[in-house]
Amino acid sequence: MITKLAILGSTGSIGTQTLDIVRKFPDRLAIVGLATGHVTPLFSQQIAEFEPQLAFTADNLTTKNCQSLEEISAHPDVDIVVIAIPGYAALTSVMAAAHAGKIIALANKESLVCAGEIILAEVAKSGATLRPVDSEHSAIWQCLSGESTPPVRLILTASGGPFRRYNQTELTAVSAEDALRHPSWRMGRKVTIDSATLLNKGLEVIEAHHLFQMPYDKIDIVIHPQSIVHSLVEFEDGSLKAQLSSPDMRLPIQYALSYPHRWNNDNLPKLDLAKTGRLDFEPPDHTRFPCLALALEAGKKGGTYPAVLCAAGECAVDLFLAGQLRFTDIAPVIESGLAAHSPIMRPFIADVIAASHWARDAVKKSVQKERRYC
Ligand code: MG
Repeated sequence: MITKLAILGSTGSIGTQTLDIVRKFPDRLAIVGLATGHVTPLFSQQIAEFEPQLAFTADNLTTKNCQSLEEISAHPDVDIVVIAIPGYAALTSVMAAAHAGKIIALANKESLVCAGEIILAEVAKSGATLRPVDSEHSAIWQCLSGESTPPVRLILTASGGPFRRYNQTELTAVSAEDALRHPSWRMGRKVTIDSATLLNKGLEVIEAHHLFQMPYDKIDIVIHPQSIVHSLVEFEDGSLKAQLSSPDMRLPIQYALSYPHRWNNDNLPKLDLAKTGRLDFEPPDHTRFPCLALALEAGKKGGTYPAVLCAAGECAVDLFLAGQLRFTDIAPVIESGLAAHSPIMRPFIADVIAASHWARDAVKKSVQKERRYC
């Protein structure tokens, strides 16, 4: 039986790696829909190669048998929707897929961070399924497989990013180019910067809280620079289970498509522990990487705070990449957005969207006002 996929964000890092897996398993996977932000030569190539029944670009220059991302997400011919759009922009597509009862291979964390309760309620109502693609959450999902007793603790690993050993002065001087060079993972621009500030790990804790229904005080973070142990689960007898593999996103992507089976893919690197030699672990440094504490606080407070965290974070990263903010200004900009926010504690989706817009405006205004950032 062939599983029919739609990939939203097909030209990005996760999208192109998903298509590598589809090419490898043409008798198991077929492309029904492809979508991305803008028409590019790569997108045109993908359309020519996979000839999808549905195609869409958010700039509206390509539309084939559909008029929106949401329409592809909910289309009756789609079995699995791969959500590979970065950032908050994926929210409405995730909601549409959840509402339509789809299997959602979720590579986007911001949608769950901003609107976790709302998405989970929709998933429960429609019978949709969320399959994590984020490597840490895929690792936890794999560790929980076959267990009948719930875990007592989740331990997310973090590479620590390229500036793990930098002091405050060195961090202030970090350029966008430096921050885009991740030591172990091949990823998109936004998540690479978020990995360098550790905001990404904070967002992943909130994501794990929703996906695995685990209280925040039972989710730990440990820095593991080799990025071989992708996360761990602790059980009440003290046993820890971990998932290990070479850092290659194609493995968690493939598992989200092959579940509950595993497929032999000789394109995936095999791990040789004797060659790896050592695996190191250390606690995260909250002082040099304040984005982590900001994210955890926003997650614990709940309501519309996580939406403000995401939107302020996206806006700050855009400004940093545009050369308008220093690396060390990212955290204060997010912090001031959170501090100025008047939250709604049991938000509807419209409240989440409004809070995101408010946060973007607030960040832009504060950066323009405080000329020290420019
Ligand atoms: Mg991750």
